Amino acid sequence: MNQPYDIILAGGGAAGLSLLYHLLHSNWRDRKILLIDQEPKNQNDRTWCFWETEPGPFESIVHQQWQRMYFRSPSFSQRLNLQPYCYKMIRGINFYQHVHQTLADFPNVTVANEEVRELWEIDELAGVTTDQSTYTSPWVFSSLRNEYEGERTNGHQYLLQHFKGWEIRTHQPHFNPQEATLMDFRIDQQGDCRFMYVLPTDEQTALVEYTIFSAQLLNPERYNQELRKYMPQYLGLTDADYQVVHEEFGVIPMTDMTYPKKQGERIIRIGTAGGATKASTGYTFQRIQRDSQQLVQQLTTTGTISPDRFSNRRFHLFDSVLLNVIGRGIYPAGEAFADLFEKNPPARVLRFLDEDTHWGEDFAIMNSVPKVPFIQGTWFALQSKIT
Ligand SMILES: Cc1cc2nc3c(=O)[nH]c(=O)nc-3n(C[C@H](O)[C@H](O)[C@H](O)COP(=O)(O)OP(=O)(O)OC[C@H]3O[C@@H](n4cnc5c(N)ncnc54)[C@H](O)[C@@H]3O)c2cc1C
Repeated sequence: MNQPYDIILAGGGAAGLSLLYHLLHSNWRDRKILLIDQEPKNQNDRTWCFWETEPGPFESIVHQQWQRMYFRSPSFSQRLNLQPYCYKMIRGINFYQHVHQTLADFPNVTVANEEVRELWEIDELAGVTTDQSTYTSPWVFSSLRNEYEGERTNGHQYLLQHFKGWEIRTHQPHFNPQEATLMDFRIDQQGDCRFMYVLPTDEQTALVEYTIFSAQLLNPERYNQELRKYMPQYLGLTDADYQVVHEEFGVIPMTDMTYPKKQGERIIRIGTAGGATKASTGYTFQRIQRDSQQLVQQLTTTGTISPDRFSNRRFHLFDSVLLNVIGRGIYPAGEAFADLFEKNPPARVLRFLDEDTHWGEDFAIMNSVPKVPFIQGTWFALQSKIT
């Protein structure tokens, strides 16, 4: 067995690397840290978008940002001014490289490209068994998801946010890189919640993403068909006008189930595995940053980890209501989002999704959607809390 580490990070994706980054900017920077991931993280496997009002810790790798974004639906379309927020995009590969380059200055951090087989705990020590070795530490932070998948309980909503993105390059200048489309609901909903994002990064390049909230994935070719259809219909681009230079596919869980935040006392779950994904939207990146900062603060000030992470009951209920409304098909999601953006300043909607609004603003948000379907959604949401 190896000498104990002060911290082990099992999983070096968004959550593992973010926590590591924040640790290296705290007074834990000299501790003995082990990062384990089965992948070398050298692929651009995802693009993260999020919003914030100030420059964040990863400002230097923000690929593009927008203050003006379109919302489009059959009933309401408008260019939204997001101020004081900026909607930002970070490419996965830039994030992985940025954090791994930072590690070069820290010989106390070891990176192991190994597959985790088991996490365990004995007394005051947690352990990780990989395909190659066994490691121990007082703290293991795990973003591995495989152990809890399938623990479903009755009454809860389990939707998937699944999406296929094409990064396209047009032969001629075609886009205004200052303006993006946050949601375009004009496409055929086919009984689900379906929309497109269009995120131009320069006049000839844009990420166009077909996104669905539903219980089942589509046949892989269906995503491509819908993207191909959208180009001429809404972007005015024929097949001859562009080429696809990169593709991404993703599935994000959207559930009102409460995720276990720990596995024992010394194995702390982080990232999507720890409940960082916002149930009603799938946004996770910024919540990971907030959680990482709080975890580091707790470790450095009290030396313990609070069990109350991602536990705002008010917003958990709001998420559950929206998931029930969408998942049970009570009211079309596109119209619900149209109501929100039509009747509220965009900044209020973003603040609400960030769980930063006060009661008065929550009331205004609730008042902007039709009462009967949302009361129905609330009834189902409350039922799931009782059962
Ligand atoms: C394509 C895509 C796009 C997304 N876009 C956005 C977005 O725009 N905005 C947003 O807020 N959120 C987005 N998300 C959601 C969320 O931010 C990401 O999924 C994020 O990567 C979650 O971070 P994580 O650390 O929990 O998981 P991951 O980043 O997936 O990290 C988990 C790590 O664990 C490793 N691992 C797994 N099993 C093992 C094992 N047995 N042994 C060793 N290593 C293991 C994996 O290799 C991986 O590196 C997106 C998700 C996807 C899939």
